[in-house]
Amino acid sequence: MIPANNNYKLKPKFLLHVCCATCALHPYFLLSKDFIVTLYFYNPNIHPKKEYNRRLEDVRMISKKYHIPLIIDKYEIKKWFELTKNLKEEPEGGTRCSVCFKMRLEKTATAAKKLNIDLFGTTLTISPHKNYSTINSIGKTIADDKKLTFYESNFKKKDGFKKTIQLSNKLHISRQNYCGCIYSMRERFNISN
Ligand code: SF4
Repeated sequence: MIPANNNYKLKPKFLLHVCCATCALHPYFLLSKDFIVTLYFYNPNIHPKKEYNRRLEDVRMISKKYHIPLIIDKYEIKKWFELTKNLKEEPEGGTRCSVCFKMRLEKTATAAKKLNIDLFGTTLTISPHKNYSTINSIGKTIADDKKLTFYESNFKKKDGFKKTIQLSNKLHISRQNYCGCIYSMRERFNISN
């Protein structure tokens, strides 16, 4: 029997693009109050493959632990390199990042459409290194084009980043110290080509 206060069926579905487990935790707990959330992992930007696998395994772990549905899409690294080939010298936060956000959010929107989920969003706005208004603007343009709704967010506000780190630490999730792509790795560790 369904309890009287169970509004599970009344909640709208939400496809949440996740970049890693750490960034997913706080947004997931926030959103799951109002939505039925499915996690969507599509991050062909992550380099090298070993690091991609590590981040994916952590996302699998939280999906299993909290019984959150998870969809994993292809690791289209060649496509990512093709799209960013003329943007190698861009600093983190520049045009390459906008291309990278667009690629991932377009794919999320396409998946949402296939799944008949009208609403999608991303955990990317929790990062203090990322401009949430750029991400929201890209997401909104994609959503308008596909007749979907993009959930505009700034998950880092109200100590969101701090909260997600605390949750991540409790689960002993190891945190990466660069955004994801080879260029961000070089920039962070000061490695020349
Ligand atoms: S720095 Fe991060 S957001 Fe920017 S292109 Fe690299 S992986 Fe993508």
